[in-house]
Amino acid sequence: MNRVVIVGASLAAVNAVEGLRKNGYQGEIELVGAEPDLPYDRPPLSKEALRAGPELDKLLLREPDWYGAQGVELRLGTAAVGLDTRARHVVLAGGRELSYDGLVIATGGSPRSLGSLEEVGPVHVIRSVADTAALHEQLVPGRHLVVIGAGFIGLEVAATARGMGLDVSVVERAPVPLTRVLGDEAGSWFKDHHLANGVNLHCGSVLDQIEVTPGGSRIRLADGSVLAADVVVAGIGVLPATGWLDGSGVRVSDGVVCDPSLRTSAPGVVAAGDVARWHNPLFDETMRVEQWRNAVEQGGRAALSLLGDNDAFATVPYFWSDQFDAKVRFVGVAGGAERIQVKQTGDASMVALFGRHDKIRGALCINAPRLLARYQKAIREQVAWGEATETG
Ligand SMILES: Cc1cc2nc3c(=O)[nH]c(=O)nc-3n(C[C@H](O)[C@H](O)[C@H](O)COP(=O)(O)OP(=O)(O)OC[C@H]3O[C@@H](n4cnc5c(N)ncnc54)[C@H](O)[C@@H]3O)c2cc1C
Repeated sequence: MNRVVIVGASLAAVNAVEGLRKNGYQGEIELVGAEPDLPYDRPPLSKEALRAGPELDKLLLREPDWYGAQGVELRLGTAAVGLDTRARHVVLAGGRELSYDGLVIATGGSPRSLGSLEEVGPVHVIRSVADTAALHEQLVPGRHLVVIGAGFIGLEVAATARGMGLDVSVVERAPVPLTRVLGDEAGSWFKDHHLANGVNLHCGSVLDQIEVTPGGSRIRLADGSVLAADVVVAGIGVLPATGWLDGSGVRVSDGVVCDPSLRTSAPGVVAAGDVARWHNPLFDETMRVEQWRNAVEQGGRAALSLLGDNDAFATVPYFWSDQFDAKVRFVGVAGGAERIQVKQTGDASMVALFGRHDKIRGALCINAPRLLARYQKAIREQVAWGEATETG
């Protein structure tokens, strides 16, 4: 293998570069990214960088000279628009073809849109540094922000904006935030936490219409109530960025379908990060994980697979979220839990365990960092539910 192309220039990609070089690959690497910027970190975009205004040089994943030192040719501001897996080339916007021996798909995801509801006026999303810069400009103390969707990103934006002195409302279709992922009891902790910090939560509320008036937007809910908004943000989830693979023969089903070693259905093509769906042997389950650490680990793992290693990518997922003074940490998997036990709860902290098939498989620790490592170990070792819930 002499030529590797990586499409998507972000977290999974830089870790794939590192994985290739660390493991002895000496051939060419070309990194194709749709955004004009060098790869940067996204978690601060809904937190500190939204509050203070994003400064790209503080967010960069690697120093600018790192790419040259790694022998990486950068092709930024250029989207891949097609892939020919027989001829082994990537088609770029403008028609240019890039040949490869090995290809890493690391195109992440893009925010779901509100569809036709968005056509009336500006609705912000947060995925890129440009998105955060545009929203930051609008977050003026005293203004009213309406966030559509109480997922993790929506709640982080709400917390950041509230901390900046805005009047904040969150509209959520479900009766409790995060209930689909964490269940009612754990989700209620987030509801109480946001209410206690002055966020107006409209749960069980369906967005019906957005109207633009000279003084701002009017958010009409299905129950007839209306919220006035100076700024509107949609935080309704992410879709894997796979459109450019249409017709390529690479199997896609809510993400790029991979085998346990992150190989796709096409020879010489692997995938990593938010875009990849693979079978995680630790949970005996197919999953796609939109989390920072997963992108780091999968980038390295996909590189190894491209170099011929056959090990499966077996991981206990981990993510964090910061909302007001809550340091939220989650290890494992929450979805599909048959039982959830809230072990410890209070205004400032909470621990909830998630189990299935009589084994522990997930743990939520809010302001309880010391328990995290213990539960991570228990999940990795597939400890029985009874044993895991007895201790701690
Ligand atoms: C606002 C925000 C806050 C977050 N906070 C947290 C957090 O607190 N904790 C946590 O664990 N995780 C968090 N995450 C998730 C974490 O940032 C992602 O899991 C991680 O960025 C995924 O990396 P990736 O490389 O797979 O994809 P991405 O970072 O999405 O990068 C994919 C890149 O591919 C590019 N691309 C897409 N299509 C094409 C194409 N056709 N051609 C060329 N390039 C293309 C995109 O422009 C993008 O630059 C957050 C994400 C966001 C957006």
